[in-house]
Amino acid sequence: MSKEQALLFELGAPGRRGYSLPQLDLPEKPVDELLPEEMQRKTGLDLPEVSEGELVRHYTALSTRNHGVDSGFYPLGSCTMKYNPKINEETARLPGFAFLHPCQPVESVQGALELLHRAELYLNEVTGMERTTFQPAAGAHGELTGMMLIRAYHRSRNDERKIVLAPDSSHGTNPASAAMTGYEIKEIPSDKRGLVDLGALRETLNEDVAALMLTNPNTLGLFEEDILEIAAAVHDVGGLLYYDGANLNAIMGHARPGDMGFDVVHLNLHKTFSTPHGGGGPGSGPVGVKEHLAPFLPLPLVERGEKGFYWKDDLPLSIGRVQGFYGNFGVVVKAYTYLVMMGAAGLRRAAADAVLNANYLAQRLKKSYALPYDRLCKHEFVISARKQKKKGVSAADIAKALLDYGFHPPTVYFPLIVEEALMVEPTETESKETLDRFAGALEEIARLAEEEPERVTAAPHTTPVGRLDEVGAARNPRVCFEGDE
Ligand SMILES: *Cc1c(COP(=O)(O)O)cnc(C)c1O
Repeated sequence: MSKEQALLFELGAPGRRGYSLPQLDLPEKPVDELLPEEMQRKTGLDLPEVSEGELVRHYTALSTRNHGVDSGFYPLGSCTMKYNPKINEETARLPGFAFLHPCQPVESVQGALELLHRAELYLNEVTGMERTTFQPAAGAHGELTGMMLIRAYHRSRNDERKIVLAPDSSHGTNPASAAMTGYEIKEIPSDKRGLVDLGALRETLNEDVAALMLTNPNTLGLFEEDILEIAAAVHDVGGLLYYDGANLNAIMGHARPGDMGFDVVHLNLHKTFSTPHGGGGPGSGPVGVKEHLAPFLPLPLVERGEKGFYWKDDLPLSIGRVQGFYGNFGVVVKAYTYLVMMGAAGLRRAAADAVLNANYLAQRLKKSYALPYDRLCKHEFVISARKQKKKGVSAADIAKALLDYGFHPPTVYFPLIVEEALMVEPTETESKETLDRFAGALEEIARLAEEEPERVTAAPHTTPVGRLDEVGAARNPRVCFEGDE
């Protein structure tokens, strides 16, 4: 692979084109008749001028510099980068789905409404909830929607609670979503087991607590085994329980948030239900609720009536819309396809395999890295580079070194309660051979950290670019081509 990649603007030559337009079959009008003077462009467009071949080669070369789940292992903890079956794309592209217009009369979109209706029933079954909305566009958007539902519920009872609790291991979007809804956040510490400290929770609970936001398994990949006691304690003070179900592949088919006592749950269809994600979507973060929160759901909901499916849009207590039209319908089609292809037994098996893969890797890697919470994990686990750090090799160095072995690095420095954290989520779609190669690479890096730490701290060595100034890139991005300076 050549290291240098010219920009499209640097290719081609003046006047070169990658397209040809047919002859104009109408008399050409002077531009002044078409556009007022002040709207006319005075200078050239300054676009790249390349042939079709140059264009195709340019983007094909760029595409090979991406790392995706279709090109290699991608154990990015909490992000569930698993293989997305291609049949999902086929169904989403069926003309009857892809060419719908959201304003079409309901009689002409009965199939689409039925799909939304069935997807809702399946997800209600998987989560143990009564109703689910598909409006939210992603996980964090689902959290915001869920928190708005919780606020609407309390307000309908003339109860202005101000506090939302979240554990110190929680995903960063949880406190952010609660804050955006206007709540004050209080952090609940984890105990030695890496689970919610029940004593600390009990001390913090009072009648000003609107909700506890929790993910179970938590971000350490550990199942909150006191969940029933936690739920009872929160409900006792009139608070609600919010379940962050982004990574439901850890438990689907085995345990349900609804049965654990949760009142609201969001799912990430773009993680658990196998639709491609990363780099900005599109995603889908459906929100499921128990009966007492259903009156506040965003509108419209799909209902089945005597004359077929229809949009219900007269819920007086609804929080309103949280997204244009009905959410990211194409993503729901993909997730629905996955649900149907897998069936209940397939979902159960997927969760079991995700857990098996994570435990297999954790037990192998604890020989070369610290495993701070050495317990049976669910879909992911967190190792620490604290041993390697003594030799000057950080979690970030290890992540960079993995690139030289062709692997996407795990999530680093999260959750915050583990020093030099590397959070690994192998997912259910990887084979034992892949897991072994990945473990082999990490073991080799651990050996290098002992014997030749500079090799690791200078990594990556084989990628098109080496270490980047990440802070500089984020703070002062140069997004415009300025030519030779
Ligand atoms: C990914 C994730 C989110 C956020 O989901 P987005 O779709 O990226 O907004 C929230 N919580 C957890 C646990 C996650 O893994």
